[in-house]
Amino acid sequence: MNLKKSVYKANLYLKNNNLVYGTQGNVSGIDRKKEIVYIKPSGVPYEELKENMIVGVNMDGKVVEGNLKPSVDTIHHLFLYKNLKDIGGICHTHSKFITVFSILKIPIPVFTTTHADVFGKEIPVSKYVDNTQNNIGKEVLRIYKNTKSNAIILSNHGLFTVGETPEKSVFYALMAEYLAEIYCYSLIVSKILNLKITPLDKKEVEKWYARYHSEKYGQKGGRDGNYKFQ
Ligand SMILES: [Zn+2]
Repeated sequence: MNLKKSVYKANLYLKNNNLVYGTQGNVSGIDRKKEIVYIKPSGVPYEELKENMIVGVNMDGKVVEGNLKPSVDTIHHLFLYKNLKDIGGICHTHSKFITVFSILKIPIPVFTTTHADVFGKEIPVSKYVDNTQNNIGKEVLRIYKNTKSNAIILSNHGLFTVGETPEKSVFYALMAEYLAEIYCYSLIVSKILNLKITPLDKKEVEKWYARYHSEKYGQKGGRDGNYKFQ
């Protein structure tokens, strides 16, 4: 499947998994050889989104494919692609439970084996930045360089995920939201019942992460997020 189609399907994946509301959120993918970034058009409802509406921009943000305006967040995506040469997909959402933690400004520790499997580390929180210039891109980059986390909660805002492909970036967004929801309920119930909850031991986290990221897990070619959209 070509990259433009992958980006289109990855954007639909956000809507189909209730990770976005209205026209918010976006996914992009980069063709490193052609130096073109494909991204959702600005302000188009997911219900109306068609593959040929996906916009191609060059590394300066100039539209080189398509007739629509690219997402207003394109500048952040371009900044991250320029500074992280090993990523191929970026996703941005304001999914519900992740946004709760973006307000609380607390990271999501590794409490479950699923979290250990997918991320292998806590999901960190950035400081608050506004959306002018490269402020968001710079802050996401700073946290990524410090933590190497594929999912980063942006304070008072939402989530950025980065992956090798658009498919992986949306998979990380889905898993981050799932983990945020579980952690949120665990915090509330533990408070009500006056119970102490404890994260997984660091050694256990490393063990689960290593197994999940070995060739033993999943079908040939890899794990959940490695599946290509059909
Ligand atoms: Zn946003």
